[in-house]
Parts: sequence; structure tokens; C-alpha cells
Amino acid sequence: MLKIAYSEIFRYSVPDKHRFPMQKYTMIPERLLSEGTISQDNFFAPACLSEEEILTTHTAEYWHKLKTQTLPRKEARPIGFEMTPRLVERGRHIAYATYQCALYAKEYGIAMNVAGGTHHSFADHGEGFCVFNDVCIASNLLLNRGEASKILIVDLDVHQGNGNASIMADEPRVFVFSMHGAKNYPFRKQVSDLDIELDNDTDDATYLGLLKDTLPRLITEVAPDMIFYQSAVDVLATDKLGKLALTREGCYERDRFVLSQAKEAGIPVAVVMGGGYSEDIDDVVEAHCNTFRLAQQIFFDTAAD
Ligand SMILES: [Zn+2]
Repeated sequence: MLKIAYSEIFRYSVPDKHRFPMQKYTMIPERLLSEGTISQDNFFAPACLSEEEILTTHTAEYWHKLKTQTLPRKEARPIGFEMTPRLVERGRHIAYATYQCALYAKEYGIAMNVAGGTHHSFADHGEGFCVFNDVCIASNLLLNRGEASKILIVDLDVHQGNGNASIMADEPRVFVFSMHGAKNYPFRKQVSDLDIELDNDTDDATYLGLLKDTLPRLITEVAPDMIFYQSAVDVLATDKLGKLALTREGCYERDRFVLSQAKEAGIPVAVVMGGGYSEDIDDVVEAHCNTFRLAQQIFFDTAAD
């Protein structure tokens, strides 16, 4: 069964006008349901991260400022959302959802979060629409609780996962692989375990060639017992922030390759969504929906045999 984390709170919309397309959080589940890819049974409502769980990854100072809503304006501005108690609660549910997805992935091979991939969040501050770092929190919880021993983060968001790289810099049990635009935010990059920097206008063939040369080797060398896959769709040519030139088909093939690699290697994969900022929301929703459709096909369709 494909377990999918979803909660009303994911689509909590802040009163400020901003570039973040919140409507995708409603449109993706609706489209998948209406076309019959999934049913209501696939969804689970994530629980809320405890303070103790937050502190596995974030500093007490940062958490205190979020909890008491005393984050100074100059620290709130880079996050890009208006700081409200509800936004903090949203972040706690998203991060816990990613952890629960990892546990479900151990059971079913794959599980997916209809949010998450908040990879610009550092231990002591947030930025780029990211309050808490869901994948790093989930990784730390898995490691602390003996639920995983070696984790591979495959971050294919067009923006470097600078928060992941920073938080996991001294954690040998987590390997951070990020493939991202060289000339894109964040302009001051952190050092991941493996960074592949892409030129502007990188096309399908170049992108997929690099990925297919790299991922199988990493799976062998790192030998993870958990993979987090950030399947952001801001790699699309239509993306306002992406600067790459992938087609929808190229993005589909990227997802197919990553999910098939995990399946063939028998490694659980927890998928988080990350960014997507195409002018036409349909480009964003359709590309994200493809990831869910592929997950169903690759992991659960038995008709092919
Ligand atoms: Zn991004």
C-alpha cells in the first residue's frame, strides 16, 4: 500500500502575498484521487513533532524563538513566510510526516509526503520557505532510534540543499547528494558529500546522463538502508526560479530512474516534494503527480507479471 502523508495544515496559507504556490497541496491529492491513482485509504494524517524531536536537529535558541514567536524580523524575512504559530505547527507536522514516511517505507518499500523537502533550514535558522529541516530531523530520529544505520539523501531540487549539507556535515552515517543549478539560490553553497553543479539551461539528456552515471554508484558505495528522495519539480524549463531546461518527460524519467533504482536495490525510499514554481500551476501539479503515479506503478502494480 502506498502510504501518503497529508494534512489540512499543509495547505495553511499565510496572509502575505508571496511566490509560494500553496494551492499545489490541495490540487495534487485531488487530482490523484479523481483519476483513481489512489484512494482515501492511501492517506495518513501525520502527528506533530515533539520539542525533544526538534532538538535532535535544531538549536534550543532557534526553537525558543519559533515557539515564543520572537524570531527577529531580520531572521524571519529570509524564510519568506509570515511567522505565525500556525506556520510553526505546519512545519512540525510536515517534518514528522517525513519521519513517518520513512517508517512506512521500511514496511512497504516506499512512502510519500505531499510536502516536505525543507532543505534550506539550518540548525539555527530557516530560509527559502523552510522553517524546520524535515529530512534531517527524520534522519536523526531514525539513527537515534536504531531504525536506520546509513542514509542516502538524493536531493534533486534545483536549489542546493544547503541546510542538509550544513546539518549533516559531521554525520558520517548520512550521505548528502545534491544535484542543483550552479548559478541559482543559494548563492553561497555549502559542501555536501557530493554536489553536482548544473549549468543554466541543462537539458534532459545531460541531466539524466549525470544522474544515471552517479546514482547506481552511490547506492553501491554508500550502501544505505534508507533513501530520502527530494523530487522537486523546479528543474522544469517552465519553472520561474529553476533556470534549467528539463521537459515534463525528462522529469518523469528522472523520477522513474530514482524509484526503480531504490526498488531494485531493495532500499526503502521516503519521497519528499520540495519546490515547483512554474507559471502555470498545472505544470507543477502534473509533474508532482507523475512521481506518485510512478510510485504506484513501480512498487505496487502487480499486473505486469
Ligand atoms: Zn527548489
